[in-house]
Amino acid sequence: MAQHFLLSKEARTLSLRSIYAGGEHAARETFKRLRWSNTNGNPVCPSCGCLDSKPVKGRPTFRCLACNKHFTVTSGTIFASRKMSFTDLLAAICLFVNSVKGISALQLSRDLDCQHKTAFVLCHKLREALAAELANATPAGEIEIDGAYFGGHIRPANVKAKRIDRRRAKYQTGKRRVVVALRERAGRTFTHVVASEAEGLDIAKRATPGSTFYADEASHWDALHLHLDTNRINHSEAYSLLDGTHTNNVESFFSRLRLMVSGQHHHVSPQYLYQYANHAAWLEDHRRRSNGGNAFALLGGALNHPVSRVWAGYWQRANA
Ligand SMILES: [Zn+2]
Repeated sequence: MAQHFLLSKEARTLSLRSIYAGGEHAARETFKRLRWSNTNGNPVCPSCGCLDSKPVKGRPTFRCLACNKHFTVTSGTIFASRKMSFTDLLAAICLFVNSVKGISALQLSRDLDCQHKTAFVLCHKLREALAAELANATPAGEIEIDGAYFGGHIRPANVKAKRIDRRRAKYQTGKRRVVVALRERAGRTFTHVVASEAEGLDIAKRATPGSTFYADEASHWDALHLHLDTNRINHSEAYSLLDGTHTNNVESFFSRLRLMVSGQHHHVSPQYLYQYANHAAWLEDHRRRSNGGNAFALLGGALNHPVSRVWAGYWQRANA
């Protein structure tokens, strides 16, 4: 039997040991190589694009010889005004991509001995950066579509007499959301957080014309047939038909997302659900790449992602 990919040596190309043994200078060089990949790691001024700069003595800063502005390897990126060392940041990314079901901010803060707030914001910034990979992409080809509810759980009362009918609208918490996922069989997984599964139809219509859809028997997908080339699988009869009709791939995504939400985050507030959905999709899509490949792809993406509008200064605003 073939060895599972994650058990193979090829899956392990980066370790915490190598990051900390390499030290702060080597970690910063890694950041420079990935930020300025077109110039082999040589600094490029983020203000004017000039290639000539001088290091500022005693500081991890450069001074642009054209516009005189000071900048660092993280200026203008999602890591701007970082508080963590380069080694700790690299270690955080290593732990983040190694965790196949995601990682909670609490766990990361313990692993790296940093504040919970720091770990919380860092994880969300990384999720924002990885989602940007798909910012300009449109699903195409053979696409499996499905939806699932998350959040809004109401704990049943201890005594039976006090229990309520949790299906009734007046007892809903308003925190339930649906994740609709479109998973390309030969590519990526696109996720959307909406109020009801019926909105999945409008999302499907935005896919590249000529795409073929695969959906389960749920009645809200009936309307897909009117607009799009659609194949259905009735799970009460079979999980997969010989002609390739199944939704197994998109269901793998939802298994991962469920494990992430229940196993790592324990509950999820509706405002962050899109982040976890994007995170699970990214892990699913890159599950066959080595952990080093994933870490450097994520770091490279984050260093080419502008300062986060949502997560920069998050706690300062939250406490204002
Ligand atoms: Zn400049």
